[in-house]
Amino acid sequence: MTVSVDQPLLSVEAAREAVLAGVEPVGTEQVAVTGALGRIVAVPIVARISLPPWPNSAMDGYAIRSGDTTAATEEAPIRLEVTGDVRAGVAPAVTVRPGTAARIATGARLPAGADAVIPVEATTPLDQDGRPGPRGRDATGPVPIACLVHQVVPVGGSIRDEGSDLRAGSELLVPGAAIGPAAVALLAGAGVEQIVVHRRPRIAVLATGDEVRAPGEPLGAAGIPDANGPGLRAQVVAAGGEAIDLGIAGDDLDDVLTRLRRGLEAGADALIVSGGVSVGPYDVVKTAMDTIGQVGLWRVAVQPGKPFAFGTGTRPTDGGSVLVFGLPGNPVSSAVTFELFVRPAIRRLAGRHDLFRPVDRAVLDEPVTKSHGRRAYLRVTARRDDAGLPVRDDRGRVVVRLAGGQGSHVISALAGADGLAIIPEAHDSLTTGTEVAMWWLDRS
Ligand code: AMP
Ligand code: MG
Repeated sequence: MTVSVDQPLLSVEAAREAVLAGVEPVGTEQVAVTGALGRIVAVPIVARISLPPWPNSAMDGYAIRSGDTTAATEEAPIRLEVTGDVRAGVAPAVTVRPGTAARIATGARLPAGADAVIPVEATTPLDQDGRPGPRGRDATGPVPIACLVHQVVPVGGSIRDEGSDLRAGSELLVPGAAIGPAAVALLAGAGVEQIVVHRRPRIAVLATGDEVRAPGEPLGAAGIPDANGPGLRAQVVAAGGEAIDLGIAGDDLDDVLTRLRRGLEAGADALIVSGGVSVGPYDVVKTAMDTIGQVGLWRVAVQPGKPFAFGTGTRPTDGGSVLVFGLPGNPVSSAVTFELFVRPAIRRLAGRHDLFRPVDRAVLDEPVTKSHGRRAYLRVTARRDDAGLPVRDDRGRVVVRLAGGQGSHVISALAGADGLAIIPEAHDSLTTGTEVAMWWLDRS
């Protein structure tokens, strides 16, 4: 497909739809639960065991028979003979018979015959000579000869039933779920050791520009440090991908092509090129995209980021289809178009179903202006209280100001922003107090 400057700009939605249309999750691999933080579930995961695997005590106290306590009161406690001691991690050797109790620790298996646990706080220990010890004394000392129970204990009191948390075979996580710390605990607690997840999508990043210098390289008279290569690779990793560094190409078609082909041979699922995608005399990236595949769309009604280009290519190693993104070189345009179009694609490649940042309601604390006819994503900071938490107005809206200059080269305002305030195409300016939608950049 040939794209030209004569075509009308695409809407953000149309561009995003075109990008996401052909994106399928990448393949799978098996990993240990202990190393699965951040991975995306590919195959439903079920509990290997019930949890708890057997009834156990929720308290330090005494395993008893509920029926023995029906007459117990604070003033007239009933006496039970203590016939055993059940530790956590040891199968109980004692059977609780009428009129008896077994001392039990939290998490220890309930002994046969018992149907309830009385917490130690509601008992008084008796020593060899029948002398009462301190009421509710903690159960660390020698096992008392008997104990007084000061209250009625219902059947099942302070017992965690077998399977009351999880049943063996029950579904724990479904495909698309992201493994967070609590999920790691859940899976480990349910006896699951290995799971099938999507491999991380491999995303190759190429910076372009004769003026762009690698870290440490002298800038000379007309060079600038490469901000986009490192920034985009960080965005890739934060989005759940694995970044492949293709370095920096000059504004030279052969150099760009050689490096992109290197990315394809490395098994990339997507290529990201920054810079050289506009209408300048040395902008070779669209030609390069058309050489390794084809440009499908170019130029979106968005600010910043109008020259955004997207296409597809083919991996020579296995014939697989590869997404190819041409991002504008200005660092803010590069970062924002990544947010809008590349991040959702990486998340879908990674197997996630939730692709977009959560949208919040914000209110402008100062007037703003923007380009005519394009949707603006302004870099904004939220007003915060003394504890550093975002403040909301009486209608529950985050109060935002511009994070700094809104030029597409102003990296400092991008780095200082909490989020992107979305200004619709139809407005050229908005006044203080206008409500706008906002994406938090630190929330997924
Ligand atoms: P371009 O999209 O190539 O026309 O570049 C637009 C602007 O972004 C120019 O001022 C470039 O110097 C700048 N730029 C391009 N690539 C990078 C990069 N990797 N790091 C920092 N600035 C860049
Ligand atoms: Mg350039």
